[in-house]
Amino acid sequence: MGSLGIYVHVPFCVKKCNYCDFLSFPLKTDTDCRKTESYVKALQQEIRNPFKLPESPTEVDTIYFGGGTPSLLSERQLGSILETISRKFLVNPKAEITMECNPGTVTAQSLRAYRSLGINRLSIGIQSAVEKELALLGRIHTFSQAKQAVLWAREAGFTNLSVDLMSAIPGQTIASYEHSLQEILALEPQHISSYSLIIEEGTPFYEKYKDSPPVEEETDRKMYEMTQQMLADRGYARYEISNYALPGYESRHNTKYWTGEDYLGVGLGASSKIGKFRLKNETDMTVYLEKLGERETVAFVEEQLSEEDEKIEFFILGMRCMSGVSLKEYKERFGEDASLRYGKTIEKICGMGLAAREENRLFLTAKGIDVSNLVFEMFFV
Ligand code: SF4
Repeated sequence: MGSLGIYVHVPFCVKKCNYCDFLSFPLKTDTDCRKTESYVKALQQEIRNPFKLPESPTEVDTIYFGGGTPSLLSERQLGSILETISRKFLVNPKAEITMECNPGTVTAQSLRAYRSLGINRLSIGIQSAVEKELALLGRIHTFSQAKQAVLWAREAGFTNLSVDLMSAIPGQTIASYEHSLQEILALEPQHISSYSLIIEEGTPFYEKYKDSPPVEEETDRKMYEMTQQMLADRGYARYEISNYALPGYESRHNTKYWTGEDYLGVGLGASSKIGKFRLKNETDMTVYLEKLGERETVAFVEEQLSEEDEKIEFFILGMRCMSGVSLKEYKERFGEDASLRYGKTIEKICGMGLAAREENRLFLTAKGIDVSNLVFEMFFV
C-alpha cells in the first residue's frame, strides 16, 4: 500500500456562484462566520479519529484543501488543521500541500502566511479573463484581482501554481476564450485545469439554460481544440483529460484518484478510498457538528469494492491519464492477464481507433479522449 493523501473539505463561500452544485454554503452573517470556528474544531476531532485507516503505512504525502473556499479560513484555523494532521500522521517533509484559493479572498499577507504554514501549491479559481463572463458566472473576483493574487503568490514564494479555466460560459465567443487563454498563459502558471461549464440541476443556470445550452456544441469543440493547441505550443503536456502541466508539475494529489491509491477525505460530505472501501461523510452540517461533538463517526461505507470493481476501476480511472494503464501492473495486481477478462473490449476499442497499445500500456487516442465516457462504458460489458 502506498502513502496516503488527505483531502480537507471547507464548505464555505462568500456567495454561491450561479453554476455551482458543490457542497458549499455562503457565509452571510456574523453568526455564519462563527460557524467556521465550530467547523474547524469538528474537523480536528474527525482527523484525530478517522473512521477507517489503512493498516499501514500512514505516511501522508499529499494534503489538499478544497471547497468551497478554503481561503476563507483564517491562517490560525488552517494552521490548527495542519498541526492536527501532523500530530496524527507522519507527514512527509516533501508532501505536496495544495490549497484552493478564490482570488477575491486573498491578500499579500494571507498568501505569505499560507506559505509559511507549509502550503506549497495553490489552485486558483480564475475561470476567465473577461470581466463580463466572471460577473455572469456569479464569481466574486475580477480578472485584475486574479492577476494581483498570482503576483502576490509569487512574491510569497509559491513556485507551483495551478489555474482553473472554464469554457462554454454563456456569451463566451471563440475570440473571448482565446483572450482568456492568452491572459492565463501570460501568468505562467505551472498547471492549468481546463473544464467546460456543465449546467447542473438545482443551480440558477439550470433554470436558464436547461433547454438550450449557452454555447453551441461546435463552438465548445473549437474552444477545446484551441486549448490543446495553445497549451501544447507553450510546453504544457496534457496528462489527464482536463489537466495540463509543465514537466514535473502534475498534481500528485489528484493523480491518486486516477491511479487507485488511498485517500482520506475529512470534512462535510468528503469521500475517502481506503483499501477496498469507499466511504462518504455526513452531508448535513448540523448532523456533522453534532456527531463529532459526541465523538461519533461521520463516515459511512458507501461501497465495498469487489475484485471485479477494482479491475474495472483500474481501467476507467487509469485511462483518464494520458499515459494510460500498464497491463503488466494489472497482471501483477490481479494475478491474471488482462486479456482474460477484457481481451474483447481491448481489441474492440483499439480496432475502433479509440485506444492504442504500446509496450504493455493501453491508453486513449485523441479520438478516444473525445468519447472517453463511451469507451469507459465498454469495460462494464
Ligand atoms: S467559489 Fe467555487 S465552491 Fe464556491 S460557490 Fe463558487 S464555484 Fe462553488
